[in-house]
Amino acid sequence: MKTVNHHPDAAMLVEFSAGTLDTAASICVSAHLHFCNKCRSELLRLDQVGSQLMSETEPYAVGEQLFENVMAKIDAQPEDLERTNRLEDVGSSKSTDEYFPLAVNKLIENTAEEFSWRHMSASVDVARVKTGQKDYEVALHKICAGGKTPRHGHSGKEFTVVLKGSFSDEKAVYSEGDFLLREPGDEHQPMGAQNGECICLSALASPIKLSNPLGFLMKPWLRINPM
Ligand SMILES: [Zn+2]
Repeated sequence: MKTVNHHPDAAMLVEFSAGTLDTAASICVSAHLHFCNKCRSELLRLDQVGSQLMSETEPYAVGEQLFENVMAKIDAQPEDLERTNRLEDVGSSKSTDEYFPLAVNKLIENTAEEFSWRHMSASVDVARVKTGQKDYEVALHKICAGGKTPRHGHSGKEFTVVLKGSFSDEKAVYSEGDFLLREPGDEHQPMGAQNGECICLSALASPIKLSNPLGFLMKPWLRINPM
């Protein structure tokens, strides 16, 4: 496994472990965990700390009815089961595309026949995926080898995880598994590596502003469309 150089920060992993991180960010963290042994170990440690805290809590007696109500609620929440299986999940992926993390393949399956690649510019194709939440647009971006994307600024947060290949911007080269967080005010121009296409997962919070004078040609960059 290649070395991953860019990771979610400690606060995000803590929230992910506690189950309080929002959906779009959690999807990106899951995708990163597929590639990153370091964060998987850290998450395991956080999960153990969490269960240790639970086991140290003083038990107290509850009525039979309350116990049954709680059990019924747990049974009614399939996402809790998914969370329990999370650590096994992130390590394996077989179904839709063998190099994608399972979380990504599940999104593609969930989007079903609406999943399709569309040209965003000469060098970039985009395929949106359904997540069922409204705050972020989650999509796969494919940059062709050596392809330039339009220079743009961010007015909201964007999480990106490299799933295949690599790309670079003014600051660094990002390879498989790398996790990037763009903050409002960041401006950059990603470029695909020369040696092959690059596929990224991204979750975009709010419209980005084009700083390229030809920006008006890139309408899809200007708005988000959560599915
Ligand atoms: Zn990591």
